[in-house]
Amino acid sequence: MAMTAQTRRAPADLAEVVRFVDQEIAPHANAFEKAERIPREVLSRVAELGLWAPFLPSESGGADMDMVSLGRVHEEVGRGCSSLRSLLTVHSMVSASVHRWGDQAQQEKWLRAFAAGEKLGAFCLTEPDHSGSDSTAEGTTAVRDQDGWILDGRKKWITGGQVADVLMVFATTDSGMSTFLVEADRPGVRVTPLPHVMGTTASMLAEIEFTGVRLEPSALLGPPGWAAGTVMTNALNLGRYSVACGSLGIIRAALEACAAYTSVRTAAGVPLRDLPHVRQMMSGMVTARDAARLLCQRAGALSDEGDPATIMATWVAKYHASKAAAQAASDAVQIHGANGFSPDHQVARLYRDSKVMEVIEGSTQVQELTIAAEAYREVAQ
Ligand SMILES: Cc1cc2nc3c(=O)[nH]c(=O)nc-3n(C[C@H](O)[C@H](O)[C@H](O)COP(=O)(O)OP(=O)(O)OC[C@H]3O[C@@H](n4cnc5c(N)ncnc54)[C@H](O)[C@@H]3O)c2cc1C
Repeated sequence: MAMTAQTRRAPADLAEVVRFVDQEIAPHANAFEKAERIPREVLSRVAELGLWAPFLPSESGGADMDMVSLGRVHEEVGRGCSSLRSLLTVHSMVSASVHRWGDQAQQEKWLRAFAAGEKLGAFCLTEPDHSGSDSTAEGTTAVRDQDGWILDGRKKWITGGQVADVLMVFATTDSGMSTFLVEADRPGVRVTPLPHVMGTTASMLAEIEFTGVRLEPSALLGPPGWAAGTVMTNALNLGRYSVACGSLGIIRAALEACAAYTSVRTAAGVPLRDLPHVRQMMSGMVTARDAARLLCQRAGALSDEGDPATIMATWVAKYHASKAAAQAASDAVQIHGANGFSPDHQVARLYRDSKVMEVIEGSTQVQELTIAAEAYREVAQ
């Protein structure tokens, strides 16, 4: 989706992001969900505010934003609309991968356009016929021929797939799993929208089929066979961090909605806010929010320091924040009673969106395997 970003300027400071979310995102998020898309003007505003990939270096059109600050931006956007935050997440994953692993020509070709939001990226790993949790089981193949590669296969649940210009595709080659940058308008690429998805419904998900797609050698990102341990690990780590911060945003949105609602709604002659079980749930949300914030900040700070401990810290942050968001959104619906089911309130959307956070970027169960394994390693030392 080519966008003009003539009015783009240095990235907004956080106060401006908060204003943007309060005025232009949060009040419309239910309408975005109903329309199953984020309007083009909103995507252009994200570009105008410099929020698509502000962590890229300034020489590539970014703003050298550190990870802690990026996390705050994704938290705020997640507070307003998880679908938009999801688009930021996958675009960030693609932009960061090209920055980290791309050769000079790839960086020159893509990074400025990514930073400006003139070209949007999508992350294409999951397949319809394989477990998404097992990212090594790719059925998509890229076969060498004298002109480069021929790509065949199918990807499903691709966030932003309906509007992305560049698809970062993981495929099996004769050297192992590799990563390719594929323009979405190449012959042989077929994008089919996935409508009526339960959560992050406005994130314009798609199934994408590749049939004999011809790719030049320059489509390969990093050496062949490199994807699994390097490109994918780094991209997923950033994605997980973004989802953790976005989940924190969901907890805050649930808390704010409940604080407002329980102050005006009465039951048994008193405002709901005076009922002990409401106070108990509100206390749980406050505690979950604060814990999520500290865990996200720790993961971001370790990343900024270049400390590899950021990987486990990010797992832990995402594990806590996504579970806590699902609990907070569930409690928020409970507190709202029947109104919790109404499109006039936002908590039903928070409930649907929060469930997604427990599935994507490493499901809760897969995270438990990883985090517990680390605990045993620590004890064994
Ligand atoms: C809204 C949405 C957006 C998405 N966006 C993208 C995207 O942009 N790009 C992309 O590539 N993918 C995307 N996905 C796919 C997502 O990454 C996968 O859904 C996720 O990796 C889980 O894979 P799966 O759905 O195949 O579930 P499965 O792997 O089939 O898992 C099913 C269940 O089994 C559990 N499980 C799996 N393995 C284990 C194990 N070893 N031990 C214990 N339990 C296990 C899981 O926790 C889960 O409960 C998206 C999904 C959704 C819902």
